[in-house]
Amino acid sequence: MSSSIEIKENVRLAPLTTLQVGGNAKYFVTAENEFAVIEALAFAREMGLAVFILGGGSNLLISDSGFDGLVVQMKMDRSDARKWAEEDGYLDGSGLEIDEPGSRRFCVGAGESWDDFVKFCVENDFAGVECLSGIPGSVGGTPIQNVGAYGQEVSESILAVRCIDTVNLRPIRITNVDCKFAYRSSIFNTSEVGRYVVYDVTFLLKYQGSPKVVYKDLIEHFGERRPSLTEVREAVLNIRRSKSMVIDADDPNSRSAGSFFKNPIVSCDKLAELQAEMGNIPNFPFGDAVKIPAAWLIEKSGLHKGFSLGNVGISSNHTLAIINRGGATANDIFVLKDEIQRTVADKFGIMLDPEPVFVGF
Ligand SMILES: Cc1cc2nc3c(=O)[nH]c(=O)nc-3n(C[C@H](O)[C@H](O)[C@H](O)COP(=O)(O)OP(=O)(O)OC[C@H]3O[C@@H](n4cnc5c(N)ncnc54)[C@H](O)[C@@H]3O)c2cc1C
Repeated sequence: MSSSIEIKENVRLAPLTTLQVGGNAKYFVTAENEFAVIEALAFAREMGLAVFILGGGSNLLISDSGFDGLVVQMKMDRSDARKWAEEDGYLDGSGLEIDEPGSRRFCVGAGESWDDFVKFCVENDFAGVECLSGIPGSVGGTPIQNVGAYGQEVSESILAVRCIDTVNLRPIRITNVDCKFAYRSSIFNTSEVGRYVVYDVTFLLKYQGSPKVVYKDLIEHFGERRPSLTEVREAVLNIRRSKSMVIDADDPNSRSAGSFFKNPIVSCDKLAELQAEMGNIPNFPFGDAVKIPAAWLIEKSGLHKGFSLGNVGISSNHTLAIINRGGATANDIFVLKDEIQRTVADKFGIMLDPEPVFVGF
């Protein structure tokens, strides 16, 4: 088989990320199907190169020195995924298969825009991902940290994830259970980091299902009324826009990687200790522990919305977002991240865990 991949050298990565910082990739390949992924991985193996898989670049901090290996940008779209899916017998001729009464499977290529897929589902009356409207990035990026927002997580609708296993360069189908999804985590960002390249994701969605309205802001917005999927999508998008949590070229506060820190999970004993010293601290039950809003901890540490440090800062619309105010370097962002972590740790004894992936540091 002739080579279907074009390997470029010294490709700038900053424009491919939402933070718009970072150096070059030594080698760079755009993969439009899973065969291209296999070829790219084989090339890297032959050359002894490290590999980084790039989706939509919305959850990354790439170092100023870039990545000294091969970056594989995932560009496979739904039609490629559908072709494979039909060969595997997952879908019928229309590309959709009734799975159980009222539900359907959608097999979506990793390179598809996540929000285009959500919009398609909402417009066609499929429930299960409506609260995840407006999250930037690719479909293939969503299982990695089990994206979640407004009371919904992508793991609630994922049936299986198909990947190329970098160990043997063969396809493998990993079921929902085996992905070991949890809060902002899965095997892909914990026990098996870098092992699997996701080339499509199969979702099971409920036809004419009810939207999920469990998040405080949404409950307050709709009151007693049962909203449609479209109304929930619109409400989520409006809330997100007010926090600069949708990418908008005209909104400098959206030049971010979304929330930069996860909400820390602490034991009930630790919470009681803090509350004895500092009074009430907002928290949410999480198994036998509690989750404390990272935004609250940052604000109470004295770092407020709009805080700036040279070319970087905290979004004026969202305490959790570190933004590139223009002309920032990755190092500038790293320094502010450290400053926030140190300040919160000094005040509360809690070390905030960053959410984005650090590349080339
Ligand atoms: C404004 C804004 C708002 C956001 N809001 C939210 C939110 O509400 N909830 C939330 O959970 N996240 C949110 N995010 C973070 C981010 O959008 C998601 O995590 C998204 O799913 C990342 O996908 P991506 O394609 O951009 O991945 P990238 O940023 O390109 O990559 C992230 C990680 O996933 C890996 N990866 C990507 N694609 C693949 C693949 N096909 N196979 C294997 N590994 C892969 C990469 O190697 C990297 O480790 C937000 C980000 C921004 C900028």
